[in-house]
Amino acid sequence: MKSPVRVLLIGAAGRMGKTVVDLARNDPTIDIVARCDLGDPIEPAMKNCDVGIDFSHPDAITEICRSALRHNKPLVIGTTGHSQERRRTIEEAAQSLPIVFASNFSIGVNVLSWLTRKAAELLGRDFDPEIIETHHKMKKDAPSGTAKTLAEILKITQKMEKEVPIQSIREGDVVGEHTIIFSGPGERLELTHRAASREIFARGALRAARWIIGKPAGRYSMQDVLGL
Ligand code: NAD
Repeated sequence: MKSPVRVLLIGAAGRMGKTVVDLARNDPTIDIVARCDLGDPIEPAMKNCDVGIDFSHPDAITEICRSALRHNKPLVIGTTGHSQERRRTIEEAAQSLPIVFASNFSIGVNVLSWLTRKAAELLGRDFDPEIIETHHKMKKDAPSGTAKTLAEILKITQKMEKEVPIQSIREGDVVGEHTIIFSGPGERLELTHRAASREIFARGALRAARWIIGKPAGRYSMQDVLGL
């Protein structure tokens, strides 16, 4: 059997971090060799891993990229809400390192992205798209990274000049829901994904961690990982 992939988990004390730890406990292909959270130095931990997984906060990205570049380690970045400048930090690191950067690691949402592109192509510009996303009250960024990704797909596919309207709802303990509504003359089409558990994101992140090892430098999406 191949030896397990040695993972450094950043944001290990958070909701997603704990879910990754729980899932990895029963996965013989993954070994979480180091855990960092707010205030822990990332650099020494990066040295002894095969891949870093980040579910923390956008503030951590500069240190994460610097450490990964110094030790030549691939990254799986799940954190959302980065500013343009911080996204540039990721793009620059991806010129030298393989990086999976995905606002949503679930298979369902990645199929939803594919269907959204297809629906926009087939329906054309007579149908106005709109996105509604709902998440738990503790979520820090709005709109969600997934909603922004879906909006970008719609804007590019329909060659729109204006932004796609996004409605963000924060209530209760909702793990994550995304609906795309296409309103046309006399009809509406709606595509919805509902996440029932954080495990779907953790499972996708671990799949990305196994997949990214040995890949050439570049920025990869979850659609690349899934071969969609
Ligand atoms: P959370 O607030 O529960 O956990 C974040 C953790 O990161 C906390 O323990 C916090 O102390 C830690 N942290 C904050 N700043 C840090 C720093 N500078 N260095 C190291 N650790 C730091 O949040 P969460 O619900 O676990 O989500 C984490 C991130 O993952 C968010 O950006 C969220 O939007 C994103 N997310 C992505 C996906 C996906 O599929 N890509 C799915 C769910 C959540």
